[in-house]
Amino acid sequence: MAKVAFLGLGVMGAPMAGHLQAKGHEVTVYNRTFAKAEKWVQTHGGSAAKTPREAATGADFVMACVGNDDDLRQVCTGEDGAFAGMVAGSVFVDHTTVSAAVTKELYAKADSLQISFVDAPVSGGQAGAENGVLSVMCGADEGAYQRVEPVIAAYARICRRIGESGAGQMTKMCNQIAIAGLVQGLSEALHFAEKAGLDGASVVEVISQGAAGSWQMSNRYETMIADEFDHGFAVDWMRKDLGICLDTADDIEASLPVTALVDQFYKDVQKLGGGRWDTSSLIKRLRAMG
Ligand code: NAP
Repeated sequence: MAKVAFLGLGVMGAPMAGHLQAKGHEVTVYNRTFAKAEKWVQTHGGSAAKTPREAATGADFVMACVGNDDDLRQVCTGEDGAFAGMVAGSVFVDHTTVSAAVTKELYAKADSLQISFVDAPVSGGQAGAENGVLSVMCGADEGAYQRVEPVIAAYARICRRIGESGAGQMTKMCNQIAIAGLVQGLSEALHFAEKAGLDGASVVEVISQGAAGSWQMSNRYETMIADEFDHGFAVDWMRKDLGICLDTADDIEASLPVTALVDQFYKDVQKLGGGRWDTSSLIKRLRAMG
C-alpha cells in the first residue's frame, strides 16, 4: 500500500479520496476550506494537512481534483505548493479538467524536479466518483502510468493511457464535445414531446431502446421532465470545459460549430441563474423561450 496525498475534497475529490483510504492506502487530505478536510477525516480516517506542501511531504503519489487552470497552479507551485514537498521519483496525478497548456507547463516544472506528472481527467460524474466507477483518461510517460494505474483503480471502472503528457486532457475535450450536442438534442426532443402533448416518459421508454439511446437519456430524462436540476455536473464547469475545447480547436484548426453554439446556449442558462444547475438544464432555456 502507498502513501497518498489528495488535494481538493469537492463533489468529486471527497469520494475519490475515500476509496483510496478504504483500499488501505495511507491517505493525507488537503482542502482549501479546512473544515471539509477535518470532516473527511472524521468519516474516513487518515489525516488532514493545512497546505498542499504539508500533505505532499513524504507521499509516493499526490492526486488533485480542484477547479480550473489557476486553481491547479496554486496547489502545485509556490512555497506552499505540493511540488515543494514532493521528492524525486514521486508521482503527481491531476484529475482536474484543465487546459493542455497548463498541463504542459506543470509537466515541465515537475520534470525539472524529477517528479512525474500524469494528466488524468475523469468522466462519470458525482455518482461515478461515489460508486468508484469513473472513466479515467491519462496522458503520461509509460513508466509513471504503470505505477499509478493500480492506485487509480480504487475509483475507476476503466483507466487508460491514451498517449504522452496532455493526451488525457485532449481526450476529456473529446468527451465534452460529444456530450454538448447530445444534451441539446435530448432537450429539443423532450421539449418537442411536451409541445406535441406526448407523455415524455413513454416516449423515452421506447426511443431509449433504439438508435437514439444514450447515458444522458437514460439517466437524466426523469429530472428533465420534472424540471429538476439541483444535482450533477454544473453549467459553470461545462462552460469552463467548452471554453478549453474551443480555444484548443482554434489552435489545432478543428471545426466545432455545434459545440460553439451549445456553449452560447449554456451562457443563456447562466443568465437564467443556472450556473450551478446540472448541464441537462438546456431544456429550461427552451421552456423559457416558450
Ligand atoms: P467542486 O465540488 O467545486 O470542488 C472543487 C474543489 O477544489 C474544492 O475542494 C475546492 O476547495 C478546491 N479548490 C478550488 N479552487 C482552489 C484553489 N485555488 N486552491 C485550493 N483548492 C481549490 O468541484 P467538482 O465538481 O469536484 O469538480 C472538480 C474538477 O473535476 C473540475 O475541474 C471539474 O470540471 C471536474 N469534473 C467534475 C465532474 C462533476 O460531475 N462534478 C465530473 C468530471 C470532472 P473549497 O472546498 O475550499 O472550495
